[in-house]
Amino acid sequence: MVVVGAGPAGLVAGECAAKFGAKVAVIDKKREVGSPVRCAEGLGHMSFERLGLKPTSDFVMNTVNKAVLISPKGRRLEVSVPYKEFSLYILDRSGFEKTLASRLNKAGGELLLGTAVTDLARRSGKFTGVETTQGDISAKVIIGADGVESRVGRLCGLAKKLNLNQIFACVQHTLVDLENADDHFEIHFGSKFSPGGYAWMFPKGKGEVNLGLGVLASTKKKPLELLGKFKEERAKSAHSIRLLSGCIPSTLPLPSTVRDNIILVGDAARQTNAVSGGGIANAILAAKIAGELSGKIVVEKRPFSQLAQYDRLWRGHLEKILIKKYKQRRFLEDDKENERMFKFLRLAAALKPIIPKGLIVRWLRPDF
Ligand SMILES: Cc1cc2nc3c(=O)[nH]c(=O)nc-3n(C[C@H](O)[C@H](O)[C@H](O)COP(=O)(O)OP(=O)(O)OC[C@H]3O[C@@H](n4cnc5c(N)ncnc54)[C@H](O)[C@@H]3O)c2cc1C
Repeated sequence: MVVVGAGPAGLVAGECAAKFGAKVAVIDKKREVGSPVRCAEGLGHMSFERLGLKPTSDFVMNTVNKAVLISPKGRRLEVSVPYKEFSLYILDRSGFEKTLASRLNKAGGELLLGTAVTDLARRSGKFTGVETTQGDISAKVIIGADGVESRVGRLCGLAKKLNLNQIFACVQHTLVDLENADDHFEIHFGSKFSPGGYAWMFPKGKGEVNLGLGVLASTKKKPLELLGKFKEERAKSAHSIRLLSGCIPSTLPLPSTVRDNIILVGDAARQTNAVSGGGIANAILAAKIAGELSGKIVVEKRPFSQLAQYDRLWRGHLEKILIKKYKQRRFLEDDKENERMFKFLRLAAALKPIIPKGLIVRWLRPDF
């Protein structure tokens, strides 16, 4: 089997297939796993449960249970939920992906870096592997985990290029020397800094933060100028040690994620939360399903038509919530709607002390 892309989706899919005994190569055009980082590095507790992985200091830099939300009119709401189910871990994402890569190796999977897929290999109308900058690789099953731009998805006809109103264009500084920022994360709503999206501050600890924003790519505003304004207002005195940019799909999941012996996972399948832009948790869940199913089909020499189960299985877990998030996205595009939503959040926060923990966890469990 070949997995294209060594991000969270590809590494987890590869590991799970290799555990089943399948011969797996995970390939990536990057020269180093986890680098360059294009992420705010926030990951919720649920993802670690899904992975059966402890959130250790090897790759977790900070843990926060307090959110500060700021409305378009500048209203401020602080919410603390001191339960582990609500913890937001701020990762060293590069270290996190290196941990996933070592799990892949341990399971017997191979990692081929500096290898870009240029085309799908075909024989007699069938997909027989991938063509890469380092030569052709034959494969019985191809997993496309190649992110938002997914070449595999476009080459096999499952995905089209996204429109500008289906993409968050993101920019982010990593800043040092910011005081009083370590114990909470911040979300700033409204068109002042982030038309159609939101701005964030995620604390990595010891005064280091990721300060960034995402806007709908169709907006006329320039993300870098908006980031400059946001930094000026929120973290004027802090120094930037890294500036990054990247895109996130903010749309509905693909209508189909399987074609013949090809399946798509993670951002390639548009399994990202269209409001928060968080994609790691869903990528991991779908990748586990994809890896286990395809590993089993290859090892037990079952018909490839059974790969179609992947589509049904991941949708069973994620589709409803992804559609709900997509419908909710409109509040990010309208400051008035945004203020209304803020009033509702204030009410929910005021009621929090009288709601039992069990209900809070069941109803409000975060999906990042
Ligand atoms: C600025 C920013 C902040 C974000 N913050 C968060 C956050 O805090 N929390 C969260 O959960 N999510 C966040 N996300 C989203 C998250 O990063 C993605 O949802 C997640 O990385 C999806 O994982 P993936 O494995 O599907 O894709 P990716 O992580 O994008 O991995 C795809 C891999 O495929 C490789 N590739 C692509 N094309 C080819 C090719 N032709 N040949 C070989 N290799 C190829 C790429 O090099 C890449 O390594 C953020 C995204 C951005 C841009």
